Amino acid sequence: MALPIQIHTLIVEDSEEDTELLLRELQKGGYDPIHERVETRESLQAALDNRRWDIVFSDYTMPQFKGTEALALLRERGNDTPFLFVSGTIGEDRAVAAMKAGADDYIIKGNLKRLIPAVNRELREAEVRRERKKAEEALQESNQTLEAVVQSSPLAIIVIDPTGNVRMWNPAAEQILGWSAREVLGRPIPIRPEETKKETRDREVKRFVNLERRYKRKDGVLIDTSISTSLLCNNKGEISGVMWIIADITERKRAEATIKQMAYYDTLTALPSRTLLHDRLQQAIPAAADENKSVGLLLLDLDRFREINDTLGHHRGDALLQQIGPRLHAVLQPSDTIARLGGDEFAVMLPRIDSEQAALAAGRLLKALEKPFLIEGIPIVIEASIGIALSPEHGENPDSLIQHADIAMYVAKENKKGVALYSSKVDKHSPRRLALLGELREAIENNHLFLVYQPKIHLWTRRVIGVEALVRWQHPQYGVIPPDQFITTAEHSGLIQPLTLWVVKTALAQCKIWQREGKAPNVAVNLSARNLEDPKLPDQIAELLEASGVGSASLNLEITESALMVNPAQAMETLTHLNNMDIQLSIDDFGTGYSSLGYLKKLPVHQIKIDKSFVKEMATDEEDAIIVRSTIELTHNLGLKVVAEGVESEEVLEKLAALDCDAAQGYHISPPLPPSELNAWFTDTAPAKGWNL
Ligand code: C2E
Ligand code: CA
Ligand code: CA
Repeated sequence: MALPIQIHTLIVEDSEEDTELLLRELQKGGYDPIHERVETRESLQAALDNRRWDIVFSDYTMPQFKGTEALALLRERGNDTPFLFVSGTIGEDRAVAAMKAGADDYIIKGNLKRLIPAVNRELREAEVRRERKKAEEALQESNQTLEAVVQSSPLAIIVIDPTGNVRMWNPAAEQILGWSAREVLGRPIPIRPEETKKETRDREVKRFVNLERRYKRKDGVLIDTSISTSLLCNNKGEISGVMWIIADITERKRAEATIKQMAYYDTLTALPSRTLLHDRLQQAIPAAADENKSVGLLLLDLDRFREINDTLGHHRGDALLQQIGPRLHAVLQPSDTIARLGGDEFAVMLPRIDSEQAALAAGRLLKALEKPFLIEGIPIVIEASIGIALSPEHGENPDSLIQHADIAMYVAKENKKGVALYSSKVDKHSPRRLALLGELREAIENNHLFLVYQPKIHLWTRRVIGVEALVRWQHPQYGVIPPDQFITTAEHSGLIQPLTLWVVKTALAQCKIWQREGKAPNVAVNLSARNLEDPKLPDQIAELLEASGVGSASLNLEITESALMVNPAQAMETLTHLNNMDIQLSIDDFGTGYSSLGYLKKLPVHQIKIDKSFVKEMATDEEDAIIVRSTIELTHNLGLKVVAEGVESEEVLEKLAALDCDAAQGYHISPPLPPSELNAWFTDTAPAKGWNL
C-alpha cells in the first residue's frame, strides 16, 4: 500500500465533529492531513500568515464567520489554494454564487463520497497551476533580461514581421542606422545596402545571401556592417519574423585599413613598402611568364645619401627622400610599382618587359634624378646606382629577384657605371656586405689590409709632389675588396677608428722607407667624419708621428667637405689642433658638399681637391669646366692650393694647367699603385722643390 500523502489542511469550521468526519474521510482516501481548524476571520488570517496550505475546506455558515467571507479573504490575498465548501445543503442559487466567487467545489456534508475525487483533482490542478506560475515567472524574468539586453546592446537588433514591417528597433539600431524607433516601427525597413554595379545585376540572387556589406545611414553616411540574421518562429512553428543583428564595423574596417596601409605603404614617402612590392612581384612573375615576358626589378640606391643626411640634417634628408618618388613616377608607366625598401633604397617593378626595355627604364630613372633637388632652397645633386634583375632568368620568386637586383646594384656602385644587370658571375662577390663586418676587425688586426698610393703631380713640372694612400682589403676568399665596400661599414661599427690609425701608421712607415731612399713625397691619408668626432685622434696621430720618425709636415690629411659639415664646430676644433701640430690639411671631394664660403675661409686648411665628378668631363662639359675654373679662382683667392682629382685624359690635364690649377691626380697620370711600382715615379720625376702640399 502506498504511503499516505501528507497535506496541510486548513478547515474553516465551527463543528469539531464535522472536522473529525472530514479528516477521517481524507485518511480513507490515502491522505495524511496535518490540519488546523479556524472559525473566525482573525484566526483564518493568522493561519494564512503562518504557512502555505495545500487545501482549504470551509463550512458555508458559521455562527461567527461566513464561508464566502473566508473565500473572499483568501482570494483577496492572491491566494489560489484549492478552496472547497463542505456544508449542509445551501440551495442551488447559493452554490452557484459560491462557485462564482472562486470556490473550486462544493461538497455536501451528507454525501462525502465526492470529497476524495474532488480533493485529488484540486490538488493536481493546484500543482499544475504552481508549475505554470513558476514557468511564467521564469519567462517573465528572462523576458526582462532579454529586454535589458536588447535595450542596452551595442548591436542594432531589428525584427521584421512576415509582411516586411519593422516590429522591433532597439536604441542601438537608432544610433547605428540613424532612424528612431518611432519613425520605423510598423513600417518597411528603411536601410538599403550599397550596391556595386555588378551586384545590381544579380541583385535578386544576392539579396538574401550577401548581408555583409555597406549600408547607407539615414544621413547618407556609409557604414560598414556585419549582419547576422535568424528566422523567428511562433510556437506553432510558423515563421513570425526575421531578426537582424547588425554591428557597425566601420571603425574596425578603418583600423584594418590603417594597419594594412602601414604594412603596405612607407610612412615617410607614402610609396608602396617592401611587403607590397613582394605581393605585387608574387602576382606579376607568373602573369608575365604566361605571356613569355619578364618582370623587371630595378633596385635603386642613392650614392652618398648618408653624407647628405649627416650634413644637412635628417629632416632635410627626409624631404629629399620624399621627392624621389614623384621624380621616378614621371618617367614610368602607371602600371609600374615604385617602392621604398628602407633608407635610401628604392625599387621599381616593371611588369612585362625585356632586358633592353629594363635598361632603358633604368637610364630614364637616373636621368630623372639628375636635376638638383631643392630642399629649403638648397640645390642638392644626388647620384644613384641601379641594379636590374629579370624574371624568370634571374629569379622566379620575389626574394631571389630582390636579392639579385641588390647584387647587381652593388656591382653598379662598384663600377660607378650607374646601372648593372645581374649576372651570376658576380654573385660570389656581392652578397658579402654583412658578413664582412665580422671579419673587418680581424682583417685590421691580422694585416689583411694594404695600402696603394696614387701620385699627385705638380701641373707645370709634372713632378710628384705627394701620394695619396688608399686602403684595400686582401680578403682570403673574395680577393681584393675596394674601400667603398667596407669604409661605410667601418664608420657605422666604430671600426673606422682602428682602421684609420692602421692606415696612418702604415703610410708613415712607408714614408719613412722612401725618405731613407732619399725620396720625400708627402703622404696623404683620408679621414672620415667619425674620425673628426674622436677627441683622442690628434694625440694618437702625434704618437704615431713620433714613433715613425717622420716629420709632421710630411703628413697630409684629407677630409671630405661633407665630413666637415657633420659637426662644423667639432671639425674646426680638431682641424685647428692638427694644424697646430704642423700637419697638412686638404678638403676632399670639394664641390659635392654644402659648406659655406665663410666657413671654409676660417678653416685652417692648405689645399682643396676638386671632386673628380667635375674634372672627369670638363674637356667636353662646359658647365663642369666653368665650375672647375671658378673653384680654382675662389681657392686661390682664399690663399689655398688646388688639386684636381679624376684626371683621365691629357686634354683635361692641359686644360687644368691653362686654368692655373696647382696639382692633379688621376688614372691618366697613374692609378693607385703598390709602393714597389711607384719607384719609377720617384726616379723620373723628383719631388718639386718649393711645394708645400
Ligand atoms: P677619394 O678620397 O676621393 O679617393 C680617390 C678615389 O678616386 C680612389 O678610389 C681612386 O682610386 C679614384 N681615382 C683615382 N684617379 C681616378 C680617375 O682618374 N678617375 C676616377 N674615376 N677615379 C679615380 P678608391 O681607392 O676606390 O677610394 C675610394 C674612396 O674610399 C676614397 O675616395 C676615400 O673616400 C675612401 N678611402 C680610401 N681609402 C681610405 C682610407 O684609408 N680611409 C678612409 N677613411 N677612406 C678611404
Ligand atoms: Ca681622398
Ligand atoms: Ca676625393
